[in-house]
Amino acid sequence: MSWGAIAELAADVNAGKSTATENVKKALKAIKDKAGFKAIIATLEKRALERAKEVDDTVKSGKNAGRLAGVPFIAKDNFLVFGADTTAASNILKGFEAPYQATAIEKLEAEGAICVAKANLDAFAHGSSTENSDFFTTLNPHDKTRVPGGSSGGSAAAVMLDMAPFALGTDTGGSVRLPASFCGAVGYKPTYGLVSRYGVVAMASSTDVIGPITKTVVDSALVLDVMAGRDDFDGTTIEREVDYNLQKTDLKGRKIGVVREYMSEGLDPGVKKVTLKAIETLKELGAEVVEVSLPSLPLALAIYYIVCPAEVSSNLARYDGQRFGHTSKNAKNLDDSFAMTRTEGFGVEAKRRIMIGTYVLSSGYYDAYYKKAALVRTKLINEFNDAFNQVDFLVGPTSPITAFKIGEKVADPLQMYLIDIMTVAANLTGNPAISLPAGLSGELPVGLQLIGAIGQDKSLLEAARCFEGACK
Ligand code: GLN
Repeated sequence: MSWGAIAELAADVNAGKSTATENVKKALKAIKDKAGFKAIIATLEKRALERAKEVDDTVKSGKNAGRLAGVPFIAKDNFLVFGADTTAASNILKGFEAPYQATAIEKLEAEGAICVAKANLDAFAHGSSTENSDFFTTLNPHDKTRVPGGSSGGSAAAVMLDMAPFALGTDTGGSVRLPASFCGAVGYKPTYGLVSRYGVVAMASSTDVIGPITKTVVDSALVLDVMAGRDDFDGTTIEREVDYNLQKTDLKGRKIGVVREYMSEGLDPGVKKVTLKAIETLKELGAEVVEVSLPSLPLALAIYYIVCPAEVSSNLARYDGQRFGHTSKNAKNLDDSFAMTRTEGFGVEAKRRIMIGTYVLSSGYYDAYYKKAALVRTKLINEFNDAFNQVDFLVGPTSPITAFKIGEKVADPLQMYLIDIMTVAANLTGNPAISLPAGLSGELPVGLQLIGAIGQDKSLLEAARCFEGACK
């Protein structure tokens, strides 16, 4: 029932050995059969089957239908995609239909990929468990009583449930890597700006990136290769490397820094054991392993939870009931309409972030919070740059714990925020980072996090592939 390598799936469609229509039907069936996991908000059945026919017709006419010909995929529901509402799992966006598609979706479609469904998330991508979705919580494929991680929990669960060979997520503070780690998938966060964010619901624009969730590193590299590059619609995009065809097959000549701050107190013993074993594997693959300290790292979470809500409060200001989705039916005038739409439409976490964000940006508090956070963020960036002058990659766990029970942390936002302690730094600095399945603690997957230097996505993916090959 598993899909196999994405490149082979597409090659088979192009060679006429299978069809896009068969693939789409298989994906739709898996989505239906596994609906109990609540990974999916909406399916795009009609549009997906129409697009599959187009791909099949192209192949029949003797043309190549692209590097992702007939490959189904699932997009987190904060990507603008034709064929279903784009809700970001928030009540305030219910009924909002995309007027255009995200650049990433357009690029994937141009290579023959077919979006079959929209995945669940924490509303507006605020969270680490999907419990902040205004609709429902996704269940972890390994244990239905546990969360899949967040905020791209629907995407990670969908891939591990074989609903599609890959899914897209967004990673503002860890939202691709954390659910990948909790579900046992590969979650890739590219260098900031490498993939266009145009047409993706903005969370914190200075840290938002989008990335693939897959079962293998090679699949992630292929999806990245299709999506990466400059986009006139997103001024923060950067030039890509020539290609992401992974070559290097060992770690000889590579230096890897074990992050001391990530291996210290608070780390679950099961996670620590798997991580230490993974570090041994990296050594066996030829890497020189050293210890590295980034003194400002313990402050990363505090910086993130100032910078992120500040940007969130600005980005959410556009949802005022006049242009997108929900509008309050009870308002008597425009001011009322703004206030009532937001009161009715935003969930508790969005409101919390708007409150914190406007607070840290308000005059009198700006200097005390936002400005200080921005200063320490620069210090962290400098420490990362120094570290990457000494080593090629940094390594540590993706999360201090494995998937937790549904309901365990939802009442305590601070406990929830602490889950992100190992992922947020790479977002603040813009470095590429990947979470790889490294083994199990009890019955639950543990993710290993590798972080690369800015723009060194290819060599990071190569190292990740080496580890993946040796870990099995
Ligand atoms: N869990 C983090 C937060 O709640 C990260 C979210 C994300 O990356 N979208 O902000």
